Amino acid sequence: MSENANASSAPNQSVEINAPIKKRRILLKMSGEALMGDSAFGIDPATCAAFAKEVKEVYDSGIEVCLVIGGGNIFRGISGAAQGMERATADYMGMLATIMNALAVQNALETIGVPTRVQSAIQVSSICEPYIRRRAQRHMEKGRVVIFAAGVGSPFFTTDTGAALRAAEMGCEALYKGTSVDGVYSADPKKDPNATRYDNLSYTEVLQKNLRIMDATAISLMRENAIPIIVFNIREKDRLKQVINGQGICTTICGK
Ligand code: UDP
Repeated sequence: MSENANASSAPNQSVEINAPIKKRRILLKMSGEALMGDSAFGIDPATCAAFAKEVKEVYDSGIEVCLVIGGGNIFRGISGAAQGMERATADYMGMLATIMNALAVQNALETIGVPTRVQSAIQVSSICEPYIRRRAQRHMEKGRVVIFAAGVGSPFFTTDTGAALRAAEMGCEALYKGTSVDGVYSADPKKDPNATRYDNLSYTEVLQKNLRIMDATAISLMRENAIPIIVFNIREKDRLKQVINGQGICTTICGK
């Protein structure tokens, strides 16, 4: 009997044929500031709508998408603390800001026909679901975009760490971090004309060079779970679609 004939009589073959095709699943993290557009504060409806359109294109291509939106366009705990507030209280206000952004993005996505659910790490049961991992998984399998709000649900953390945690929990193939620059630079490109962009970096390089693209907790979590981070400019039209298809300017963080 040939090797092939042996293989065709293997008992687990029918299991493989009937196995559901595993869809690509990604987590997209966007800072709250990306929703401001040209304003200095808050949510710009046109920017929100444009972002939703970009997400829809990825969703329509059959990729499962979950989202984490920051809150920096409304309130950051650290700014409140700098003005004399107790840090933990200020951080809870920051988490509430991320819920407002999540609702704005939910509204923008549903307006263009993308089914969504918002799940919050702190209980606000009148306006959205609590975070329940298995329920979130089910929503995604049913074709809904899940928006994770309130970070990890504890003060002294950021939505970057929330995004890293959810990406690991949801089994995402990568974490896409949309920023207002084209990737990770050696220095702040808005301040230093000699700043150069990296195409690739390891997690350890990001930490050792103190590149501050995400907080160290988030980077470490991604390193432990070997989930690549792709940093790109969310303000550029079609860039999200391009980087998800392996094209377009970005920085990829992976490898030891
Ligand atoms: N925050 C928090 N715990 C979390 C996530 C967020 O306390 O797990 C608070 C924190 O005050 C933070 C604010 O929410 O400053 C907004 O989140 P972030 O600064 O990450 O937003 P971004 O910079 O991405 O817009």
